[in-house]
Amino acid sequence: MVIGKQLRSDFLVSGKTIVYLKTMKKLKFTILVMCIFALTANAQITSDDKLNWWGDIDGFINQQDKITLDAVNEALKKYPPSLDEPMERRMAMLMIDGVLHEEKAAYRPAVQKFLQQRIQLAIGELEVAKVTKGAMIWKLYNHGFIIRTASVTFGFDLVRAHSARAEGFEIPDREMQKIIDQCDALFISHRHRDHGDIWVAQKFIDQNKPVVAPPEVWRDQDIHSKITHLKREAQTKQTLTIQQGKEKLIVINNPGHQGSDIENNVPLIFTPEGLSFVQTGDQSGPESDWKWIDELGTHNRVDVLFPNCWTTDIRRMIKGFRPKLVMTGHENEMGHTIDHRESNWLTYTRLQGATVPYVLMTWGESFHYLP
Ligand SMILES: [Zn+2]
Ligand SMILES: [Zn+2]
Repeated sequence: MVIGKQLRSDFLVSGKTIVYLKTMKKLKFTILVMCIFALTANAQITSDDKLNWWGDIDGFINQQDKITLDAVNEALKKYPPSLDEPMERRMAMLMIDGVLHEEKAAYRPAVQKFLQQRIQLAIGELEVAKVTKGAMIWKLYNHGFIIRTASVTFGFDLVRAHSARAEGFEIPDREMQKIIDQCDALFISHRHRDHGDIWVAQKFIDQNKPVVAPPEVWRDQDIHSKITHLKREAQTKQTLTIQQGKEKLIVINNPGHQGSDIENNVPLIFTPEGLSFVQTGDQSGPESDWKWIDELGTHNRVDVLFPNCWTTDIRRMIKGFRPKLVMTGHENEMGHTIDHRESNWLTYTRLQGATVPYVLMTWGESFHYLP
């Protein structure tokens, strides 16, 4: 603009002045059009159009994760969980391991979006699913599962994924609230953050829904007196009233441990339909715990076992529990370092030659169990 003013004063008297000023106007207009074009073009370049990532390693890895996880979502949709797993599905499960076993994975926007998309799928189903036969089973983050039969819905170890300690890698509160709204009760295995989330527990209690946990969970906090502390005894059947007294669950609250001293409930839950489900939390206890594990299946019918994939001896546990079906949990818990993050491929290895059928799911997937 300064140039324009300057030129105007310099050429004011000459006949060429008018011609020059017209040229300047045209030039200004052309520059303006070019600027607008450049700005619009810039806005249209997305990461999907970008053909060169030199100098942007984080951008490259994030884009690679996005492309991979989009393909994973597509494959999982086409090949849902089943007893007879096709190679396409297995490959998708292995691709998830590849993406998640990277130091910065939980910080990558593509991974954060993947978790949220997967959980959204489960919420969408939970809000409409009616069960007439057997049970619908959803896998959420880490060792979280939800079971729904014709009469009841309950959850194990439901958490918002804050154990990953990566901002943005989480199940948002409003989404978790929708999940809580769909459940009648919550069972928390033990005190660790990848299994127990005090915010989630409080929301259940606010809705007058029981939360069952071992006595040492949140012992010094106000919520402790509101938690249901069933006796930790193998073989004792206890009653848990739900739906404001309308229904009840029968629970054998097995006294498990993580390591030598962390209290870890291993509840075997019988629904009003007579189906039974047991989730093991981080069971990896002392030798003495094998006494009730080795015998559990001889005294009780077990429909579905949800073990921690890394438990001390998963084959011995399966032998003791004698379930009709195994569905592992705890794969890809992002709060753990890569060596103990566990993975789908390792679950396949651990369950090789298992005498009981198993179905491996990832976040947000569901399976209709028919006894
Ligand atoms: Zn633990
Ligand atoms: Zn754990």
